Amino acid sequence: MLAGPTAVGKGAVAAEIRAHHNDVWISVSVTTRPPRRGEVEGVHYWFVDDETFDKLVADGEMLEWAVVHQRARYGTRRRPVEAALRLQKLALLEIDLQGARQVRQTMPDAFFVFLKPPSWEELTRRLVGRRTETDEEQARRLETAVHELAAESEFDAVIVNHEVSAAAEQLVTLMRNDSQATRIARPIS
Ligand code: 5GP
Repeated sequence: MLAGPTAVGKGAVAAEIRAHHNDVWISVSVTTRPPRRGEVEGVHYWFVDDETFDKLVADGEMLEWAVVHQRARYGTRRRPVEAALRLQKLALLEIDLQGARQVRQTMPDAFFVFLKPPSWEELTRRLVGRRTETDEEQARRLETAVHELAAESEFDAVIVNHEVSAAAEQLVTLMRNDSQATRIARPIS
């Protein structure tokens, strides 16, 4: 389970793992936010409308979900995660703090990793630099980031994202060590 504030590079770390570690299964989240340029349905997200998201929640299909940055809903479908765990794959969920807290409740044996920026200044620089959000949206995301950064101690491990490929390697190493240890993540239904 990988969480961390906006623009820290969670997506880039996940992409690096997708490219170099095909033994790691990466959950594709469902979201009500519209796709950004270059995002591919089923690879980066499943893009759905509000009605479809409501139905997934009502049908108990979501392992966790949250309204992120006071804007759109994002969530993890339960069944693909359960299937990956049954196959004993290393499963990676890249979600926000609210979602991580829900998964803590339902899958207490999961391993929680917090990805952290080298500094607040660097986080701001990355968010502004990627130019995918309006000024208003950036301000909202930084507001969320203040709360998320304060939650670091809730996690089992912290990785500082100085450089994407190094952070990805550290994450995969942590996942491998964890799976070889006593824990087998098992959802409670
Ligand atoms: P973005 O809009 O930049 O792709 O993602 C915004 C935030 O949503 C990120 O902090 C990301 O971790 C979070 N997020 C993405 N997928 C999920 C999910 O399935 N569940 C939850 N709770 N948060 C998610």
